[in-house]
Parts: sequence; structure tokens; C-alpha cells
Amino acid sequence: MKKETVSNSYDVIILGAGINGCGIARELSLRGKEVLVIDKSTIGSGTSSKSSRLIHGGLRYLETLQFGLVHEALTDREELMTLYPDIVHLRSFYFPIYKGSPRPAWMVWLGLKFYDLLVGKRTNHTSARIPRKLFYDHAPHMVRKNLKAVFRYFDAKTNDILLTQQVAENAKSHGAVFIENVHIQNIRQTSLGWKIILGEKLMTAPILVNATGPWIDEVNERYHLPAQYHIRKISGIHIVIGGTLTEGLMFMQTKGKRIFFIIPEPNHNRTIIGTTEREETVPVDDVIVCEDDITYLIENINRYLEDSYKINRSDVIDAFIGVRPLIAHKDNPTDLSREYQLDLHTDKETKLLHVFGGKLTTFLSLAKKAGDLLF
Ligand SMILES: Cc1cc2nc3c(=O)[nH]c(=O)nc-3n(C[C@H](O)[C@H](O)[C@H](O)COP(=O)(O)OP(=O)(O)OC[C@H]3O[C@@H](n4cnc5c(N)ncnc54)[C@H](O)[C@@H]3O)c2cc1C
Repeated sequence: MKKETVSNSYDVIILGAGINGCGIARELSLRGKEVLVIDKSTIGSGTSSKSSRLIHGGLRYLETLQFGLVHEALTDREELMTLYPDIVHLRSFYFPIYKGSPRPAWMVWLGLKFYDLLVGKRTNHTSARIPRKLFYDHAPHMVRKNLKAVFRYFDAKTNDILLTQQVAENAKSHGAVFIENVHIQNIRQTSLGWKIILGEKLMTAPILVNATGPWIDEVNERYHLPAQYHIRKISGIHIVIGGTLTEGLMFMQTKGKRIFFIIPEPNHNRTIIGTTEREETVPVDDVIVCEDDITYLIENINRYLEDSYKINRSDVIDAFIGVRPLIAHKDNPTDLSREYQLDLHTDKETKLLHVFGGKLTTFLSLAKKAGDLLF
């Protein structure tokens, strides 16, 4: 049997160095707590580097009446643009409406005006219907036939992995310790706190935070941690093509009313297109890009491109996949939401906090709430 050497005790140990684990580490270290973050891989290598890179209220969540989520995300968006001005930028988004659009122009206009209202006076960038000529200037490859209306609105764009790494750096500068590429042998709960066994090292803390994103159920099962919720693993891919297809970002619709984004990245001379939704049943580490999803995105983008600009499979230079950890409440597993839940378990002096769900955009609010729950 391996010898355990007690080497380190902390106020809080966080499992997972995605945006939420790093965000909580930043918040708690700013509050003067001693924090350790442990990741089986590297900072930001999970879902937090596989997103659409949007720091947004989430226009489409208005349709599902998730006003609280949209409002919180818009508030966080403003704060993130102030805190990280080099990597979170406000950008123009175009929403073209073609004949037969699953959402009529009046509905989109109403949604955007409501979105402006939720943003409030925090910005003077408001949405508007724009002349088609202006749209063609920004998106010369897009089909002109049957274009009924174009709206422009504003949301923010980031580089997700750089943002996560930057948040981790903030936490480190306030004393947080990060251990990457490590396998946790065991997690034990005693009356005094949590014991995390890493090889011959033993890390202890009265508080354990499980911020392992889509791996959360697997971690809870492996280490026998009690939890009130489960997640459904909904994967999404993005394809990458060379060159910038459009100048601004595009909010596009499929025939079936699903949405996808065209996300030009001029600094890298590439365009990212995504995303898809597929329920996964295999372990998160075994989730791979599926050729059907690539075909789905190519077919949908080509519906909007002029003939000479349509893309082929060979134009796709990369494709990446991430898994959304969407909460399924135990009582109603079909009730999926982009909102998150902080699931706190207190036992005498010890606390266990699970982070279920949570968008890239809302990590600041989530971390503040986690801090308030724990201290
Ligand atoms: C396709 C797609 C598009 C998206 N687009 C957007 C968007 O545009 N805007 C937005 O706001 N949100 C978006 N999201 C949502 C957002 O990306 C995620 O909700 C968010 O990144 C989740 O962060 P997290 O820290 O909870 O999880 P993760 O980033 O997955 O981090 C979890 C970490 O836990 C670690 N881990 C796992 N198991 C263990 C273990 N046993 N021990 C230690 N560590 C472990 C992993 O290595 C990983 O680093 C998107 C998600 C997807 C999938």
C-alpha cells in the first residue's frame, strides 16, 4: 500500500479547471481564501475551449422565456467587457430573414427590442433593421434572392480558452494553486473535511467544489458523492473553414427552426460555423465528431451562400466538439435548461458544492453565488 504524506491543507479544493472552476477559484481567492484547483487535464481544455465563443445574453432563450438567464448573462457580459477588454469585444451580429423563415420579421424585431430593453442603458448600441445594401456589403457571399429583411444587433465575442486561462491567472495572482494533468485516486469525507488522494500526496479542505462540467455525473459516481441533480450530455460541433466568409457574425436559422452562427475570426483568417445538438450516452472522453453533424452544418450554410461560394467537405479544415452539461432534474429528466444549479450539501463542518450547468458567459455571477453560499 502506498504511503500517504499529509502535505497541504486549503480552505477549498475545486475539481475542474474549466471556466466555472477557474471563476470560483478567482472569486474565492479574491475573498482571501486558500484555494486549490485540480484538473485531470489542462486549464480550459474541456467544454470551455469548445464553445461558440459568444459572451451573450442568448437571444434565443427569450423564446423559451428564460428571462432571468438572459438578464444575468447580459449583466455579466458588460462586466466581462470591462474586466477583460482585450479578449471580450462587442461585435455586430446580423440576423437575415428570408422568405419562408421559421421566425417572421415582426417576431425577430419584437425579440430584439425586448433584448435591448434587458440590456437597458448600459450600452448605446441598439438593434435596428438595416438596409439590404448594407448587409450585402458586410456579407457579399450570402444569397440575395428572397431576402426579406435584415436586423443588426450587438453581442460580445471572446476567445474561450484564453478567457479561461486569464481567469485562472487572476486566481493564481491572489494565491490560488493549480495542479493539472493529475489523476485523483480517491476522495474521502471525514468529520474534519475532505481528503483528496493524489498519488502519494494528500490534499485536505473542509470544502469541496465539484466543477467538472459534463464529467460531473461520472465524477459523482466514481467517488460516491451525493447529488440532487443529473445532467444530460448534449454535444455540439463547430466546423472551421479558411478565410472570413462574412464581416459580421451571423445568426442563422435552419428550416427546422434550429439556429446556428457564422463566426468570422479575421485575426486568424478563418470562419467558425456551429453548432449542433446531439444527446450523448457514452463517457465524455469517448465523445467524437460525427460526420453527419459536419454534413448538417455544410448543408445548412450552403442554403445561404451564392452558388460560387458554396462549401464542400474538403473546405472544412477542422471540426471540434464539446459537451454541454444541461441539467435534468431527477424528477423530470426532460426539463432541460441552460440555467445552472448550485447544489450544496452540508455535513457538520464539511461542505460539498456541485456546479451543474453554467454558460461561459455567466461564470462571474455563478462564482459570486458560489462564494456567498460557501462563506
Ligand atoms: C458546442 C457548445 C457551444 C457553446 N457555446 C457557448 C457560447 O457561445 N457562450 C456561452 O456562454 N456558453 C457556451 N457554451 C457553454 C459553455 O461552453 C459551457 O457551459 C462551459 O464552458 C462549461 O464550463 P465548465 O467549467 O462547467 O466545464 P468544463 O470547461 O468542461 O471544465 C470541466 C473541467 O473538469 C475537468 N475534469 C473532468 N473530470 C475530472 C476529474 N475526475 N478530476 C479533475 N478534473 C476533472 C476537465 O478536464 C475540465 O477541464 C457552449 C457549449 C458547447 C458544448
